[in-house]
Amino acid sequence: MNKKERALLITNRLEEFYPVVPIPLNHKNNFTLLVAVVLSAQTTDKKVNEVSKDFFEAASNPLEMIELGENRIYKHINKLGLSKTKAKNIYNLSIILKEKFNSIVPNTYIDLESLPGVGHKTASVVMAQCFNIPAFPVDTHIHRLAQRWGLTNGLNVKQTEKDLKALFPKTKWNKLHLQIIFYGREFCSARGCNGTICILCRELYPKRKKPIICKKA
Ligand code: SF4
Repeated sequence: MNKKERALLITNRLEEFYPVVPIPLNHKNNFTLLVAVVLSAQTTDKKVNEVSKDFFEAASNPLEMIELGENRIYKHINKLGLSKTKAKNIYNLSIILKEKFNSIVPNTYIDLESLPGVGHKTASVVMAQCFNIPAFPVDTHIHRLAQRWGLTNGLNVKQTEKDLKALFPKTKWNKLHLQIIFYGREFCSARGCNGTICILCRELYPKRKKPIICKKA
């Protein structure tokens, strides 16, 4: 099976497993989704959702976030990793949104990536989930699965994103990104596996009879 055939099989199977893929991060609007994605760096969506309910009750737009101030932002999110940096970034990005973007989350990579704490992956999630613009945000989970399924040899997320975009139709990128994350969480953890335990890998690699050593990505 070549890469294109594997990509098609994966698309079909993931559609059967996860026909509906809700956005995993709780949010109220584009601004709170942007903030939730910033909060999700180096932590789980579950932990972000635990703190974001009260946090977004306190502030759900840039003006309210500025009013809340960096210290109180920090108090809301201090159970999360890197909370000091995240509080600073959320406060500062709120000021920039107010002053430069009329308090509206922008819908271009260049503008999004100009905000503190917003890298290319975060910007891609916002493009996909706020604006429904095709994007393929690659985090460590997607990077790991793409390697294990033989969809990329990329040593970094940039290359993996390029390879996945070339393999899958643009119309499927936004949904596939979430479907792969859901599958990774349920079946294909970072702890590694021998590449023979799931139906999907057995279908992708029918000739694989013996366990293999999977890369830990
Ligand atoms: S067999 Fe292993 S590598 Fe393949 S999908 Fe399952 S957990 Fe992931």
